[in-house]
Amino acid sequence: MRTPLVVGNWKMNLSRSEAEALAQGILTKTAAIKGVTIGVCPPFPYLLPVQAKLQGSTVFVAAQNIAAETKGAFTGEVSAAMALDCGCTWTLLGHSERRQIMGETDAVINKKAKLALAASLQVILCVGETLEQRQQNRTEAVIEEQLAGSLEGITLDPAQLALAYEPVWAIGTGVVATPEQAEAVHVFIRQWISKRYSASVAEALRIQYGGSVNPGNAATLMAQPNLDGLLVGGASLKADDFAAIVAAAQR
Ligand code: PEP
Repeated sequence: MRTPLVVGNWKMNLSRSEAEALAQGILTKTAAIKGVTIGVCPPFPYLLPVQAKLQGSTVFVAAQNIAAETKGAFTGEVSAAMALDCGCTWTLLGHSERRQIMGETDAVINKKAKLALAASLQVILCVGETLEQRQQNRTEAVIEEQLAGSLEGITLDPAQLALAYEPVWAIGTGVVATPEQAEAVHVFIRQWISKRYSASVAEALRIQYGGSVNPGNAATLMAQPNLDGLLVGGASLKADDFAAIVAAAQR
């Protein structure tokens, strides 16, 4: 049985004191919830203060991204080792905002994934199609290409890596995928993983859904058998909403 994984991506939001207050709120409001792995992805400058708030709890801290290099003259970049040193146990990789705005390719994401795993940082690898690609019936081809490129040469260990299906048209738009649309892509991904790796890897691998998740739609999404958690943007900035989403993810 796959333990649901619910992660809040705070993106480039909040002040330091707001980030600390949010971490405290999440801690308090999720304390009684069992059977869900919970994480938050603060902006880099808030990793240490947020980690300090969450110290001793089971809520993990994750980076939103890491560099494609280990160290040296890469102004503005943060390595996997640095994220780990600041208390991160996970990192997001391949978020559509990194792909679309920062121009990250599957090859770059693949390099980052290898560096993260080598540094013992667990990875949530995001994939997802644009509205145009969906309308052209290219969803599966796009997801397959992203998976193949981002996972090239990686021995997939479901304890170290999870996937997040995030349709680009659903991120920050208020337009959530229907549970059926999400389930269909999750089934496709699991079958692809089964063929590429093995049935047992596919069975154990957690696949999150992300895109306009809120307390009102989380339970129906999570009722789908192949949804193993949620990656939450906007709604993760309010402790009450995030805690309600975590509660809805309990199996
Ligand atoms: C995200 O950015 O990963 C995300 C899912 O955002 P939102 O929940 O705001 O759509």
